[in-house]
Amino acid sequence: MNKSNHIIKKTEKFGAANYRPKNVVIDRARGVMVYDPEGRSYFDMLSAYSALNFGHLHPEIVEAAKHQLGKVTLTSRAFHNSVLGDFYEILCDLTGKNMALPMNTGAEAVETALKTARRWGAFVKGVPDGKQEIIVCENNFHGRTISIISMSTDDSARRGFAPYTEGFIKIPYADARALEAAINENTVAFLFEPIQGEAGVIVPPDGYLEQVRDICTRNNILMLADEVQTGLARTGDMFACDHEGVEPDIYILGKALGSGLMPVSAIAADREILSVFEPGSHGSTFGGNPLACAVAIKAMEILVRDDYPRLAREKGRFFLDGLKKVKNPDIIDIRGRGLLIGVEFKNDASAYVEKLIAQGVLAKETHERTIRFAPPITINYEELENALTGIKNAFEKT
Ligand SMILES: *Cc1c(COP(=O)(O)O)cnc(C)c1O
Repeated sequence: MNKSNHIIKKTEKFGAANYRPKNVVIDRARGVMVYDPEGRSYFDMLSAYSALNFGHLHPEIVEAAKHQLGKVTLTSRAFHNSVLGDFYEILCDLTGKNMALPMNTGAEAVETALKTARRWGAFVKGVPDGKQEIIVCENNFHGRTISIISMSTDDSARRGFAPYTEGFIKIPYADARALEAAINENTVAFLFEPIQGEAGVIVPPDGYLEQVRDICTRNNILMLADEVQTGLARTGDMFACDHEGVEPDIYILGKALGSGLMPVSAIAADREILSVFEPGSHGSTFGGNPLACAVAIKAMEILVRDDYPRLAREKGRFFLDGLKKVKNPDIIDIRGRGLLIGVEFKNDASAYVEKLIAQGVLAKETHERTIRFAPPITINYEELENALTGIKNAFEKT
């Protein structure tokens, strides 16, 4: 038995089976490339669902982490740390908001946004506490906590986990009329993904984001953009909402904020909204820790300095053009924005995922029929060409 098989066996023996990974073991990585224990190399075209926008082990971010590792990694939030203020300032610059609240995972940031919206509803809008309603979309993905799966319409994420959290109204995605119709005097917010990633890279029609902004403003409800996957340049804009020049009331960020080195998430909003929190009302032991802040600060600096949105836009166009040349009658749609691209097949796509792996290309199907490609934004054109060759071989040869 080779090393990979041995590792897989052990992992499956002791680990809960809440994931079904493909038979690839990643032992080392650098940039876009990952390597198994036998030394085989693969293009990482999934990038931990967009957490690796900077590629694996970006040298400057690793350097920033090392520098911080020589100083301090964690302090009690009972005291200040010397990095958190800079993190706030840079995140506020990036989002155009004037306050932020750090957490660790995307789900925690979503939970924070939900709590913010409920409190804002009760304290500012005047909805009786306990009556707040938040509108969400069908086929959403916002994470895995009990409250978040209460918003889900995915049976596999919900089954057996009841009772659910109340106060969520589910409407079809990309349907502005349904949003307008679902609002009542107790509605406090609309939570949505500007592009639905896990649902299979579902891109709403142009105009939807503007309509959402307009409806939220007119009805005095908060627009909560879950940009955990789409934010930080992935779709060719710094935030996917920028595509229509729209500013949500709350940005929910995660994944790439920690650049693959640390779990870092946050919400950003204006003071009138985030001032609903007083000491003791919310928190996290690791949220805002110095190591996480140091990593996120460097990541945000690089995003702006190297104009990652433009890189994702240009490379995305090149990649999409290449994908559209692939000939396979089973492919029924190729869509996306920037470097977040979905290739939809007529039937279950898992056999094609196996073929991709055999060609040295890592990607995975989401919701059975769509293979998502979201390589690091640092991928160069030669790597894109080579990955495209592998994809062409996997999709065209029988
Ligand atoms: C991944 C993701 C989350 C959850 O993030 P975790 O870090 O896994 O908790 C939330 N929203 C969206 C849109 C995501 O893609």
